[in-house]
Amino acid sequence: MNRKNISCSIILVFAGLVSLNLQATVMRQINAVPGGVVVLPLPINKKPVRASYRGKRVMILKKDDQWVAVVGIPLYVKPGTQSVAIFYKRKKRRSIEFFVKYKKYKTQYITLKNKRKVNPYKNDMKRILNDIKTIKAAFKNWQKKRKVELYFEPPVTGRFTGTYGSRRYFNKQPRKPHSGMDIAAPLGTPVKASAKGIVINTGDYFFNGNTVIVDHGQGLMTLYCHLNSIDVRVGDKLKQGQPLGTVGKTGRATGPHLHWSVYLNRTSVDPALFIKKKYTRHINH
Ligand SMILES: [Zn+2]
Repeated sequence: MNRKNISCSIILVFAGLVSLNLQATVMRQINAVPGGVVVLPLPINKKPVRASYRGKRVMILKKDDQWVAVVGIPLYVKPGTQSVAIFYKRKKRRSIEFFVKYKKYKTQYITLKNKRKVNPYKNDMKRILNDIKTIKAAFKNWQKKRKVELYFEPPVTGRFTGTYGSRRYFNKQPRKPHSGMDIAAPLGTPVKASAKGIVINTGDYFFNGNTVIVDHGQGLMTLYCHLNSIDVRVGDKLKQGQPLGTVGKTGRATGPHLHWSVYLNRTSVDPALFIKKKYTRHINH
């Protein structure tokens, strides 16, 4: 087999992120889609030093004797071949390719009474740009961790009202696709950390409202938005299921709900991939 065949045939994408079953999932590239996650087995017997995809550092885990790179694919990636650079000691480098296929996402139309949240005022823009800078800086954090929990609990029980990736129109005007999952729940319902992690940012942002960002290690982060109250501080270590705030409607929201995002290698990916099937069966993709 030539190098290309090897890299293509070992592409592995899994349904439940944790089932690193090499045989069963070979070539079933169900998640190698924009907004998905791909798990790439790396050459055996060679300990990788680091990996990067589109210039961003990528998670590397070891399952039994197999090293794998866990890669988040941005929503804007066009179908086609992508490659991940793997770096070894003595500056040795190898690239592993995978194929991204097309995925159709839903379209969602939202009407907002607060027009300022659709067409912000001039002086709001300064704040919005500042918010983006702060949030992006948080995603740059790299918490070294050998084992990273990839099973998430839904942060709140409620009705799923908005799926990840939907193309969205606010008051008939096109806006960025939905970067997370919306779960509607009564105002004040506790919001819990979806996995163990460290609070790396809290703030009140123009669109996201009151927000908490939790770092789970190696570039895997969760973001909780529109909170009514924030009950944690930067640096707090949270256990899975530990309350971090309450459901609210701060920022750009039509009613009380949690906007929950998952970030991997600094790109948002579909949160549904990380939660157990029993919680997601009523989400229509
Ligand atoms: Zn949302």
